[in-house]
Amino acid sequence: MTESHQRTAIVTGAARGIGAAVAARLARDGFAVAVVDLDESACAGAVKAIESAGGRALAVGADVSDADQVEAAVARIAGELGPPTVLVNNAGITRDSLLFKMTDADWDAVIAVHLRGSFLMTRAAQKHMTEAKWGRIVNLSSTSALGNRGQVNYSAAKAGLQGFTKTLAIELGKFGVTANAIAPGFIETDMTAATAERLGVSFEDFKKAAAAQIPVARTGTPEDIAATASFFVSDEASFVSGQVVYVAGGPQD
Ligand code: NAP
Repeated sequence: MTESHQRTAIVTGAARGIGAAVAARLARDGFAVAVVDLDESACAGAVKAIESAGGRALAVGADVSDADQVEAAVARIAGELGPPTVLVNNAGITRDSLLFKMTDADWDAVIAVHLRGSFLMTRAAQKHMTEAKWGRIVNLSSTSALGNRGQVNYSAAKAGLQGFTKTLAIELGKFGVTANAIAPGFIETDMTAATAERLGVSFEDFKKAAAAQIPVARTGTPEDIAATASFFVSDEASFVSGQVVYVAGGPQD
């Protein structure tokens, strides 16, 4: 793709983990990629990896739950890389604990990053998509949307993102914009490593125990999610919208 015809993708929470893998994959697919994360300097590694593979990327520091920062970030991306017509809402946090111990702050923080953050980013980016009469939105849900002990805040947010995705698909379809959700199972990242630590088990033992419950007998990698995102944002996926794909190594109830 020549630079003038190159599409721009935004991936939030892309300094590491799933977001970094999605950013690298979309750059490989030919997109200019805005690597958005809380701390701009933390995005340097992901941007460097894309550039050294011959891709085009921009590091952008923004808290997705802050409306002013989101508006400024999307405007900067449109100016420096081109109008963003792909958005992957991936930024996420966990603040796990059982309901009776969960604080107001734990609830609010998780809802703010996942739900408010995806809402703010999507509202800011959609105008570029509707103007272009083409767009792709991918939201990161989770198998936890189906319920998970110790994650009442996170599972509510991830289930909420599924409803959010379906409504985006209904409202934006006529503008050539699709919206889909990926619901990963166990993916090897800092997030699952932190869960192992909280439970007092080694990450290796935690992964082994998880793999024993997964039909394909392994835990997932960020690249598994990146491959699914790559499909959803492709031209070929224009008739796939409002879907939730569980990428979890087996069926989910
Ligand atoms: P991760 O390794 O913890 O990375 C998440 C990234 O999001 C971090 O770089 C983090 O920045 C950033 N972030 C957090 N709050 C932000 C905010 N307000 N604004 C901008 N960026 C923010 O997580 P991951 O495992 O890659 O997960 C990525 C997504 O997949 C999340 O939505 C997660 O819920 C979902 N998911 C993961 C799994 C799994 O097994 N790993 C399973 C299902 C769903 P800091 O480093 O500065 O905190």
